[in-house]
Amino acid sequence: MESKIVGGGNDTVLLDEIAESLAGAKVRDLLQSVPSDQQALAGEVAYERRRLANPSSVVYGLMYDAYAYSGLCHALIPQAEAGFDQLHIIFTNQLIGTWDPADRRYHARTVLCGSPSIISISGLVEAPARSPEYYFALRGAEAIGLGKESKLELADSFADDCLSYDDQRMTEVVKGYAMQAIAYRLSGDAFCSDPKCRLFNAHWQRELLKAQLGEGPDFCSEHEGFFQRLSKEGVS
Ligand SMILES: [Zn+2]
Repeated sequence: MESKIVGGGNDTVLLDEIAESLAGAKVRDLLQSVPSDQQALAGEVAYERRRLANPSSVVYGLMYDAYAYSGLCHALIPQAEAGFDQLHIIFTNQLIGTWDPADRRYHARTVLCGSPSIISISGLVEAPARSPEYYFALRGAEAIGLGKESKLELADSFADDCLSYDDQRMTEVVKGYAMQAIAYRLSGDAFCSDPKCRLFNAHWQRELLKAQLGEGPDFCSEHEGFFQRLSKEGVS
């Protein structure tokens, strides 16, 4: 999805264009695929504009179509830095989601590899599933009509270990996802099938924590060798 962001050297115009592109990439309904020509609503553009103008405002968890979001970030990379010898990684507090035509809904993603690669901090918390007991407790709490706060409190007591916002382990976890973006750029493949390797594509919180923070070496022997060779021989 191409984004038309030019700015023309004018920061106000640039912010307006980014705000409009963000609003156009926003997932308004998890059950509706965002069309490539989604019209940005004036209120949404104004909201994005306020958010951009105030970098200290911390908002988590808005969802954007991952490819549209990637397209608008790509449009912001200067031509001279867009070559294969440069790697750009965007870290965002917002959710990025990809549309699954099989079950016709958006799914939050932890990382989208490309140019640039995007790592979603909210996605690391929200995308990999928690334990089955958590969802069982959540449904039970819903069935007995508990309020939102009590419901989440009860379900949390059944959750196994999982990442949370402002988790002290987040920085270490993000390093592994940055390595996935690097592996993708260098080999065309971000992920590894070994659940102990930091390139493992975790679908459950417990898998994510084991791959990123578990005992033992960071990478499986294949990827350890791959990164070792690179550090000795460089990128060819
Ligand atoms: Zn591996």
